[in-house]
Amino acid sequence: MVLVLAGHDPTGGAGLVADAESVAACGGWALTVPTALTVQDLVDVQAVHPVPASTIRQAAAALESLPIAAIKIGLIADLEALDAVVDVVRRRPGVPVVADPVLKAGGGSPLATQELIDAYFERLLPRVDILTPNRGELARLAGLDYQDDTERCVSLMHQGCQAVLVTGTDDPEGQTAKGRVAHTLHTPDSDRQWTWPRLPATFHGSGCTLAAAVATRLAAGESLVQACEQAQVFAWQALAHGWTPGQGQSLPRRL
Ligand code: PLP
Repeated sequence: MVLVLAGHDPTGGAGLVADAESVAACGGWALTVPTALTVQDLVDVQAVHPVPASTIRQAAAALESLPIAAIKIGLIADLEALDAVVDVVRRRPGVPVVADPVLKAGGGSPLATQELIDAYFERLLPRVDILTPNRGELARLAGLDYQDDTERCVSLMHQGCQAVLVTGTDDPEGQTAKGRVAHTLHTPDSDRQWTWPRLPATFHGSGCTLAAAVATRLAAGESLVQACEQAQVFAWQALAHGWTPGQGQSLPRRL
């Protein structure tokens, strides 16, 4: 079972629904605790309503007897929700934690203030086994003092997180070979890169799909490298089978 603490996105492209679909498609079972309710379509987010911290704590506590083998964290909308999520993680020592930092909506609207990012860094990061930012999120989380992604990831690992899987879908500096997307796993011992054919659409929920798949594979006992590789195969297939229902971003189909 994978405990998912994430925001609800009514489109089903990202957030809790996406995570639950990914977990199920990868052979796991998702236990879903909402951290926020968002109001959005496939173009942009109109509102984010944090779930009260007491509700997050209560919902997670009620699941305590269940065999949770991994935790996946998505959108955290305010400082109180962050503290509640940190408490939930603290109560499950030894359970692998996958965190997908959600700083911006697919349409570009900010979903996190600098104060929240600083608190995420200090309070949650030391409890994360693998963080899955895209390149833009990594740059924003690590700050301005670093030359490249490797240095940025080393700084996050010094903060206590065990590994960082950087996705290149957004590729802000255009470093990937034309027509390819590169994802790189940074650990204290080594770096490992995979590249994939770049798909023509812009997807809503690609990061959620990937991170939830990593959590499910870790829950099944796979090694970090194996979990990251198999999750990428799954996520790429979901995007390749994706569809575009109308205006805005495309939706992954998690089969
Ligand atoms: N979670 C929620 C609730 C969201 O609304 C979004 C984006 O809008 C995300 C996560 C992140 O989505 P993605 O996987 O596209 O980064």
